[in-house]
Amino acid sequence: MILKLTRCWAPFEPFLPGDQGTKRLEKSAYITKTSPGCYALLPLGRLLYSKVSSILHAEAERRGYLRIHASCLQRYALWERSGRARSLGKSLAQLDLARGTFVLNASQEEQLAEIFHRQARTPAKPMRLYQLSERVRNEVRPAHGLIRSVSFHLADFYVLAGQLDGASEEAENLKSLLRGTLSSFGVPVMQARHTTAEAISFYVASPDTTKQCMVNECSECSLAFRGLSSKSCPDCAGPTSHIRAVELADFVVHEKMASELKPSPLLISAGIGVSRLLAVLAAVWSDERGFLWPRILAPYDLHLAACTDRREEAEAFASKVSDMGKVVVLDDRDVSFSRKLIDSSLLGGWATIVMGKRYPDACELKVDREDKWHQITAEAALVKLSSD
Ligand SMILES: [Zn+2]
Repeated sequence: MILKLTRCWAPFEPFLPGDQGTKRLEKSAYITKTSPGCYALLPLGRLLYSKVSSILHAEAERRGYLRIHASCLQRYALWERSGRARSLGKSLAQLDLARGTFVLNASQEEQLAEIFHRQARTPAKPMRLYQLSERVRNEVRPAHGLIRSVSFHLADFYVLAGQLDGASEEAENLKSLLRGTLSSFGVPVMQARHTTAEAISFYVASPDTTKQCMVNECSECSLAFRGLSSKSCPDCAGPTSHIRAVELADFVVHEKMASELKPSPLLISAGIGVSRLLAVLAAVWSDERGFLWPRILAPYDLHLAACTDRREEAEAFASKVSDMGKVVVLDDRDVSFSRKLIDSSLLGGWATIVMGKRYPDACELKVDREDKWHQITAEAALVKLSSD
């Protein structure tokens, strides 16, 4: 795949020290805001999203979760029955259609409980399902870019387990799926419990301006728990410190959700906020010059910047690299060479090649965020890229 910068959303804007992740993604044309709380993923953002989701899929598959895709419309009656129509109130996006009142994909516990219910029996073995899709919350005050938005992507996981020994094993399996997935993105995650023992969340500390929520940490027993300005630990009454954090994932055991089945099973659910994860990753993996994506997240493999005399050769080289199954960003704009280099640092590809007048006898190659350029022939560059 070749992505030409003349067909993208350049010019790009330089990052500033106080920019949050969402702002950096906007400045580098990974995403664009379409209305308050709603963002579109542009080509580079879509490539980053697909790297993030392939890590999620691999981890879910490894732990025996089967992927589904439920409808984005759910009968409002399901939410009334579970009691959450009342507790969530106006944050549910509702639609009146010819066939009745529907909820626009807020979360899927009600719908999944219904799907499980159609099995008409409590499963002998736990059923593990997951999906990755777009969600809608009627958020009155969307804030912090992708952190608290109106429409967003969520990966959610569901287990229907018998009330027996298997349930706690399933719960541990799901919690370690969340921990394992989040830690593979290279973000330091802390696990904190809510007021109820069954509900926990996974947070990343965010010391800057993102006041998403507060996590308390006990300095005696290291228990982390959610709650505003709690001065002492609920377990050991030790002193606590407060950490500003972003909630990346949550985990809940619903004892009532699937209670119509006999014997009554447990519904365990968890979700990873993929959109806010993009914002967190953008903040973690960048500096003032641009993105510094690790290999597993780099949205494209090669950034190719050529002088105007080598335009045709650059196209031919990009095609060869694309034929290897790699993604190439080709800077074919009529801008200065220094501008091309600045923007290549900003966008954060894995490797960069600069093609000057000495091409194909020599070109400059830089790989993996290193500051040093290597002078090699075009042929050697192709070999190097194919082996990476
Ligand atoms: Zn404690």
